Amino acid sequence: MEEKSYKVILFYKFVELENPKQLRDQQYKICQELGLKGRTLISTEGVNGTFEGETENINKYIEIMKTDSRFSDVVFKISPGDGLAFPKLTIKVRKEVVTLDLLETENFDPKEIKAKYLEAEQLHDWIHKEKKEFYIVDMRNYYEAKVGKFAGSIIFESLKNFRELPKVINEIDHLKDKTIVTVCTGGIRCDRGSGFLLKHGFKDVYQLHHGIVTYMEKYPNEDFLGKLYVFDSRVMMGFNLDSKDHQIIGKCEWCGETSENYVNYNTPQGERKHGICCQSCISKGVVSLSQQNYYSYR
Ligand SMILES: [Zn+2]
Repeated sequence: MEEKSYKVILFYKFVELENPKQLRDQQYKICQELGLKGRTLISTEGVNGTFEGETENINKYIEIMKTDSRFSDVVFKISPGDGLAFPKLTIKVRKEVVTLDLLETENFDPKEIKAKYLEAEQLHDWIHKEKKEFYIVDMRNYYEAKVGKFAGSIIFESLKNFRELPKVINEIDHLKDKTIVTVCTGGIRCDRGSGFLLKHGFKDVYQLHHGIVTYMEKYPNEDFLGKLYVFDSRVMMGFNLDSKDHQIIGKCEWCGETSENYVNYNTPQGERKHGICCQSCISKGVVSLSQQNYYSYR
């Protein structure tokens, strides 16, 4: 019997949607028929989703989306799955698909205010060929960045949830006149966050188009070190991870040894944690594993 192959897709688009509820119902029907699991948020400002399914059905889903003029130009980031990435199918209508805690007066339309796109190839050139002064600013939460990040990039250690970006932004206020490149998993947080940087007075802001996942696929184990944290049961992903060039940048939160074993665990004090804990600490019984669950950056 032939082994089934699975794919996980990640996609988003900021586009005016007049009837999000109707789209939700259509999407639900399509996904159910194709046996896809995962989650999508739909709002009047756009759509943000991730699904897993059998390769053939994922391809069918993409084909169906391409026939809808609102989504015909969506770029789907595709990575290998194991059939277990999501426990179920959830499609929700929300006020926004990616949220920043802003005062009413500070709010802006991500379709209007956003940074220039920098393609993966251009960023690669900037890093390797050009002697350009620029700073890579990671828009992701700290728990994501500790297992994988661009070499030399700026990480917000106190960022636990993207919506709190406005609270930590002053940490990089000294870079307002410099060239900034924002990065995130698939691009959606940059599409909102880079606009916020511009509104906040940063002068020269770029955003990595299609996110780290695309950069990693093109240049595995080069400038993005470690693994990419993802919001499904895979927890982390990467390309060519068996290569000798793959570096582990994570550290066990208990003993400090190099590790990228990202788990949910219980401390001896009974505290539940989601983080890096090495196999040795687990087998010695210093900490115990707890049940897997799903995290979301929202
Ligand atoms: Zn350890």
